[in-house]
This record gives sequence, C-alpha cells and structure tokens, in this order.
Amino acid sequence: MRITIHGAAGEVTGSSHLLEFGKQRILLDCGLHQGGREDEARNADEFPFAVDSLDAVVISHAHIDHLGRLPLLVKRGYRGPVFTHRATADLARIMLEDSAQLAAADTERHNRRRLREGLPADEVPLYSALDVADTLSLLRGLDYASPTEILPGLTLTLRDAGHILGSASVELRGETPKGPRTLLFSGDLGSKGAPLMNDPVSVPQADLVLLESTYGDRLHRSRQATVAELGEVFRQAAAQRGNVLIPAFAVGRSQEILYWLARHYDEWQIGQWQIYLDSPMALRVTDVYSRHCRLFDRDGQQRWRTESNPFQLPNLRLIHSVQDSQALNARGGGCIIIAGSGMCNGGRIRHHLRHNLWRDNAHVVFAGYQARGTLGRALVDGAEYVSIFGERIKVNATRHTIGGLSAHADQNGLVDWYGDIARHPRVVLVHGEDEPRAALAQRLNERFGAEVKIPSAGQTYVSSPV
Ligand code: ZN
Repeated sequence: MRITIHGAAGEVTGSSHLLEFGKQRILLDCGLHQGGREDEARNADEFPFAVDSLDAVVISHAHIDHLGRLPLLVKRGYRGPVFTHRATADLARIMLEDSAQLAAADTERHNRRRLREGLPADEVPLYSALDVADTLSLLRGLDYASPTEILPGLTLTLRDAGHILGSASVELRGETPKGPRTLLFSGDLGSKGAPLMNDPVSVPQADLVLLESTYGDRLHRSRQATVAELGEVFRQAAAQRGNVLIPAFAVGRSQEILYWLARHYDEWQIGQWQIYLDSPMALRVTDVYSRHCRLFDRDGQQRWRTESNPFQLPNLRLIHSVQDSQALNARGGGCIIIAGSGMCNGGRIRHHLRHNLWRDNAHVVFAGYQARGTLGRALVDGAEYVSIFGERIKVNATRHTIGGLSAHADQNGLVDWYGDIARHPRVVLVHGEDEPRAALAQRLNERFGAEVKIPSAGQTYVSSPV
C-alpha cells in the first residue's frame, strides 16, 4: 500500500490523498482549496493523477474542503463508485448543489465586470449543476462499523469521527501476499463531549496513519468554560444593545450554536433577542440532522425524544430570501445573526459584516477554524480595516474567538486518538498548518516514540507492518 499526499499538506483545505493498492487506485477525499484568490484559483488545476486510472473514491465527511472538487473529477471523466457514510451522502447533495451555484454566481460576476470594461468573458464555472447530479448518482452510502469489500481484496470500514453528522475515519484493509495491511485516515476528528456528536471512535490497529492536525498546537478550554464564555458574549452585547454575528459553517456549527441557545435559553436571557438563521443551506442541513437523529450521542437522542426538536426556538426566524436577509442591514441591535460561510470567504455573512463591523456595539463570534487568506482569519488576527465587496470597512466590533466550540479535537484529543492504536504505527500529519504540525509531531514522538512525518504535497509513503 502506498499513499501520496496531494492536498491539505501544510494547510487545512483541499484534502486529497491517493492510495495505491496493487494495481488499484483509490482517492481519499476530493476537497476544494479555500482561502484567498490564489488558493481558490488552484481548484481549476489539473489533478495530479490520471482521473481515468482511479478505481474508487472514499469521502470522509461532507465539508466542502473534503468533497468540493468531486464534481470536477466527474466532469473530467470519473465514473466509478464514491463510498461514504449515508448521512454524508445526504449532506453532499446540499453542499455540492450550493457549491455549483456559488461557482456560477462568481463566474457571472467576473464575466460581467469584464464585459463592462469592454473585455471578452474569460471564465467558465468550475462545474455545473449537471456535473453535481452526475456526481450524486455515484455515491454509495455506508453505515459505521460495517466492513465492506469495495474492490477485490480491499475492505473499507468507516468509524464515527465525531466531527459532524456522518463524519468518518477511514480504515482500508488490504490483503497482500505478505499479509494484511491497514491504512487509517483520521478524517477530521471531533472534540470530545461536543453536543449531539459521539466522541471520536478509536481504532485498534493500523500500519500507517494519516492524522489531521488542525489544532495540533492548541488546547481548547473546557466545555463548561467555553459555554460560560459564549453566555458572557450575549450578556455584554445585550448591555451594549448591539447585534451578535456568528459566521457558521452550514454543517455542524450552525446546529451546535442553536443547540446551545436552546440549552441556556433562560440563563442567557435569549428570549430578549431575535435570532436569525440566515443560511438557506443550513436550513436544509438541519433537516438532514433531524432525519439522522439516531446517529446523535445518547444525550442528543434523549433530548430529541423528550424536548421535541432542540433546533426549535420560539424567537428563531429562518431567512430564505435575499430581500429578508437585506432587511436586517438596518437593524442596529437586538439581533443574533447566524450565517455562512464559516470563514467569511463567501455567503451572506459578508453582507452582515459589512453593515456591522463598523459599529462599536456589535460582536462577532468565531466558532470554527479560520483558514489562512480568509476574511475570517484577518478578523481573528485583529485587522483594523478589512475590504468587503471592494469597500474598506473599519473594524470597531468586538471579536470573540471561542476555540472550545470548534468541531475539531485539540492537541490532547488528537494524541489520545492516536494513542489508542496498538504499537503506535508511523503517522503522517495532514490537514494542519506548519506550527500545529510541528507541535503535534513533537508531542507524539515524546509520548509514544512515534515516527512522525510532515509531508509536503506530492510526498509518498509505503505502509509496512508495525
Ligand atoms: Zn471538516
């Protein structure tokens, strides 16, 4: 078994790894690069392997940086099966349809600008709704912990990674003349004790491990401290009569924020706010969460049975139309606005930021990872001015980074998950910037004597028995 790291090497987006097992080739994840313009321009590049040489694709979870390039793969000729968890297959429809729509809108805006300048249109969208439809027809939904022979001699088992609904660690076991070999790809690992999600399931055995390292250099505050921190934001914002903006990924973060608002409704006096979920995609995703509520952890399932739907709040308004979204622009206080995208590099949150960042009574809560090059990262890093739709905006709003709300395991979570694998096999760190990778490598080495690799894109590793 040979694995080549093609994406998310030294960064957190564009996850993509190629496994070669004998003559068979399997792509693990096919994610979009996200970040600044240059990062995103890489999405249109040639794939670094022959598309028609692939026999199967496996997708770890429904975040766009793990599956967003899949329709391009199909557009360029891939027709084989795409294996993933069945909840991910449901979420993929929403994510990819949205992605195609965004690509079409971006291209149209770009081409219109060129036409106004007297230049010919020069862009085509990365892929279309038709490519997405073709892609969806290739999805094969699986359950957790059900080994499935996906190619002759190669068995796939998905384990609950506890990151978002349907998220999986990918275990691929191949029978070779020298005995079985197992490659384990962590996918994105969730944070222990996160609401609704189970804790990441440990995997007992592997010969080679690809481990995510998003927060490899950080420890989250405890769940209790995190929740208190969030409550304090609402108290401060209420005292200042401002708005609270929460950029949130449509999958995972939006549902978790609603869950916390419901749990602490009285304590945080949430009744005094008008809450807006301004993300048509998040609404559809929340429906999928409802349909798959059996995958929730015990507490989540119990709440579901006893309190009807934890996503329902009496003062929650779901915003569908652009007009209703724009109507919020004039509101100077009293609103909690949850909108995508989570890293502020697109979506309706940009309009809300434009109309609120200059207000000194506004608050922005960052509940997820902000990749290099995104507007969210600039804000988290303390930018005094930002540019939104070509307009220079002074940032007077208070910014809060609440790491403990993250859907990613912190350093201890990553170390514990790896520590459960027998005999501590060789581990390749992916899905993390350089500092977190270096810190995690040092910790894994000191604690377990692990052989840790920090790949750059294009590097290959061969699994040998531990
Ligand atoms: Zn993810």
